[in-house]
Amino acid sequence: MIITAQEAWDSCLSFIEDNITPQAYKTWFEPIKAVKLVDNSLSIQVPSKFFYEWLEEHYVELLKIALVKQLGSQAKLVYVIRMENSVDDKVPYTEKIPSTNRSDVQSQKVDIPLKAKSPELKNPFIIPGIRDVKIDSQLNSNYNFENFLEGDSNRLARSAGLAVANKPGGTSFNPLLIFGGVGLGKTHLAHAIGVDIKDKYPDKTVLYISAEKFTQQYIESVKKNNRNDFIHFYQIIDVLIVDDIQLLSGKAGTQDVFFHIFNHLHQNGKQVILTSDKAPVDMQDIEQRLLSRFKWGLSAELNQPDFETRISIIKNKLYRDGVEMPENIVEFLAHNIKTNIRELEGAIISLIAHSSFNKKDITIDLAKTIVENYVKNTKREVSIEYIQKVVSDYFQMDVETLQSKTRKRHIVQARQLAMFFAKKLTKASLASIGSQIGKRDHATVLHACKTVDNLSMTDKQFKKYVEDLHKKLTI
Ligand code: ADP
Ligand code: MG
Repeated sequence: MIITAQEAWDSCLSFIEDNITPQAYKTWFEPIKAVKLVDNSLSIQVPSKFFYEWLEEHYVELLKIALVKQLGSQAKLVYVIRMENSVDDKVPYTEKIPSTNRSDVQSQKVDIPLKAKSPELKNPFIIPGIRDVKIDSQLNSNYNFENFLEGDSNRLARSAGLAVANKPGGTSFNPLLIFGGVGLGKTHLAHAIGVDIKDKYPDKTVLYISAEKFTQQYIESVKKNNRNDFIHFYQIIDVLIVDDIQLLSGKAGTQDVFFHIFNHLHQNGKQVILTSDKAPVDMQDIEQRLLSRFKWGLSAELNQPDFETRISIIKNKLYRDGVEMPENIVEFLAHNIKTNIRELEGAIISLIAHSSFNKKDITIDLAKTIVENYVKNTKREVSIEYIQKVVSDYFQMDVETLQSKTRKRHIVQARQLAMFFAKKLTKASLASIGSQIGKRDHATVLHACKTVDNLSMTDKQFKKYVEDLHKKLTI
């Protein structure tokens, strides 16, 4: 009897499904497609090299048994890798693996010193030692894998993080880019990977740094004329974790220096871990050559946690804090705070604080009051203050910056968006909006509203800002 690839694979799947957890099955087997069956050799298509490595590492025995059962002892399995997040998904992943002598790598503008002169390194993270230079990794051990709860929303990123921690620089996820919205665990996961590596490989030099601090250090080094020391310092790191790299946007000098540090580390088999609040495709004002580097490894998204995951995050937090809370209140919180784990934690902390200060039990009414402070009530009109906060958070600036007199384009745009939404979502007059948003007059607000209208019709990216903000302000 002749069977098709799909039929053969389906029978393998039903065997596999019986032998692993439903979640593992969903994550690792559902995305696979059977593509070809020739003699005893079955080709399956997997979405990334990461997938392939994961299957080989964790499920090779199971796959073997399933295949032999189905196709006999001569059974063979061939993986076809389709690159994830690739624009053209017909291009096999392997063709995208960089070769070290690409022309853009060679045409470096910066003079990179060949060897680091370690003892002279000038960097605030250096702990002066007598013999060896030690680098303080800036890791927060409270952010570890154990308390980073797993759910559908983070499974890929978490697994990739674990894989990287087991073999830093030794997997194809280099760099590992973790991206996702505010408060969804990027910083936590980034630390967890670093902490785990430090644990497994105490001799490796790990460094966690925010892109903001990195930028400051770089600017400082240029001022003090020790840019080379800055570069040296970063070149001796084995595992470099840069948090919030979207903040490099628009900063050409810092991007340039990061590009060279990245190349150096990558070429030397060092691990780079990055986080961003945007997917690479959505990153603004980041040089193409840098963006293309980000795509070399794996981009894994952290999504909003589903209800079950929110429940387990709450319970875990309560457990760690030694607090008990009635089930209905836990569920109430999980139902009402959906989009941000930091807010979920904030609500729990303030609930506990309220009840212990007032020596009252944690009741559903108390929970309701607290949740109102965290989650906007749709019936209530949003305040202009709130709008400014949301807009400045979205563009990662302070409210002060948004209100300031500067003419920098992105700040002006943020201010105009705040005015636009104030007009749209509140009953305040133009004059009152103007006076609350940086003491401007009514004509400025009117102009802002028109500009936003125009731009959202002509500029796709801008339109997305408007849509995103609208969503955030009206949920
Ligand atoms: P981001 O950097 O994405 O803005 P953070 O890493 O700062 O978010 O996470 C916000 C808070 O939520 C932190 O206190 C973190 O410990 C917690 N958190 C996020 N994801 C998880 C998770 N999967 N399990 C437990 N806590 C989490
Ligand atoms: Mg963060």
